[in-house]
Amino acid sequence: MPDSYDIAIIGAGPGGYVAAIRAGQLGMKVICIDKNAALGGTCLNIGCIPSKALLDSSELFALAKSRFAENGIRVGDLSLDLKAMMERKNRVVKGLTDGVAFLFKKNHVVFVQAAARLADANRVQLKMAAGKDDVIEAKSIVLATGSAPIALPALPFDGARIVSSTEAIAFDKVPEHLIIVGAGYIGLELGSVWARLGARVTVVEFLPRILPQADAEIASVMHKSLSKQGLELHVATKVTGGSVQGNKVVVTAEGKAGKVQFEGDKVLVAVGRKPVTAGLGLEEAGVKIDERTGQVVVGDNFKTTKHGVYAIGDLIAGPMLAHKAQEEGVAVVENLAGQKTQVNYGTIPSVVYTWPEAASVGLTEEQVKESGRDYRVGKFPFFANGRARCLGETEGLVKLIADAETDRLLGAHIIGPRASELIAETVLAMEFAGSAEDIALTCHAHPTLSEATHEAALAVAKRAIHA
Ligand code: NAD
Repeated sequence: MPDSYDIAIIGAGPGGYVAAIRAGQLGMKVICIDKNAALGGTCLNIGCIPSKALLDSSELFALAKSRFAENGIRVGDLSLDLKAMMERKNRVVKGLTDGVAFLFKKNHVVFVQAAARLADANRVQLKMAAGKDDVIEAKSIVLATGSAPIALPALPFDGARIVSSTEAIAFDKVPEHLIIVGAGYIGLELGSVWARLGARVTVVEFLPRILPQADAEIASVMHKSLSKQGLELHVATKVTGGSVQGNKVVVTAEGKAGKVQFEGDKVLVAVGRKPVTAGLGLEEAGVKIDERTGQVVVGDNFKTTKHGVYAIGDLIAGPMLAHKAQEEGVAVVENLAGQKTQVNYGTIPSVVYTWPEAASVGLTEEQVKESGRDYRVGKFPFFANGRARCLGETEGLVKLIADAETDRLLGAHIIGPRASELIAETVLAMEFAGSAEDIALTCHAHPTLSEATHEAALAVAKRAIHA
């Protein structure tokens, strides 16, 4: 008889590991399966966490280089120890992946390192990383295998010159000229890291603007700011091909002015990610995959078309964000335990961890306009915020969009210092179906960056004090 569980979770990324811990908390007998020995999936091992560790380190380097002097701080000759920076990044990752292993033990989650494949009803085959292969049985199976970088057929990954984010967070030397295809999250974040560390960085974006999903005004401020920092941004330019020539790589593209060519020593292809569904035996088991998007099709409570099998995170529709996957991981398990849990997809924040950071929640101004409803906008620039002045970080603004009739918040868009933290207040306000006036009537500590949000809320009713 195979070992039997209440729930089997395939994938130990933010969706899967959070689902496993929650299942353990609810007293379920739970097993989590992942090919990788280190827990945490892409996010902890080769995504969010290592990239943010490098963004934070490189930001310190850039500050020391360009901002210490104006603060009256003199340092001797500044130099980069990239090896030490990478080692620190690895320690941050190890601390967090070990932390998940600890949480698994604490919550009685059984973990096996294996490649999983759906077998007949309620069974999962395990091709073990070490030892004899096995089969387990589970009343419910949750698929949480995440996503992988999309390759460009004209510029296939070779792991050395033409790379994905996985390699671009682990270069052993600063590239002389890094060409980046795609001005989305990965392109702009990793472009910022390597530009701060001394690389020439060229970003080539197919659409007419960077950050195509962001509010247009925010994307425009970001464009100016990154250009000032030295990133060369080419929008409305489609990459059509490329080749490795000795120790150089040549990328060809087509822009408004016709054909262009870029020559660098590395190319980072960051044109999006696709769900990982191969090798899981999904179609054979009756789990439907959308032919166009490659996503697993789910209905109510993340149910796939196969009874007893569920899917969450990057595998299904919606933004490919770790926190969205985590919310879904909790919801699927709580609903299996008989609770009534829902994910509010209207209040999932998104953050680009450049400097300044850009963070948003809800609808962009373009989306509100398109919906045809009347709306009001309140904005407040960081240059008029006392704390931003003290920090010497005066770029950017807070922009709030509210329904003209009800004053209910429809969207919040922040570009500026620590936007990633500031956005939480507006997410909470929207989660409570709050209005701009609710934020305007809330006392904000002085002097803080959050006062810019307060003033933007006041500005919705045209009564900002410091503007
Ligand atoms: P993305 O979707 O954010 O951006 C890809 C960009 O590439 C788009 O702007 C697209 O127009 C452009 N593009 C596509 N084909 C092109 C071509 N031939 N030539 C030029 N440009 C082209 O994707 P990403 O940056 O690869 O990130 C992947 C996923 O990872 C995202 O969906 C994101 O949700 C997630 N992610 C999130 C964060 C974060 O939350 N801070 C950070 C990194 C990644």
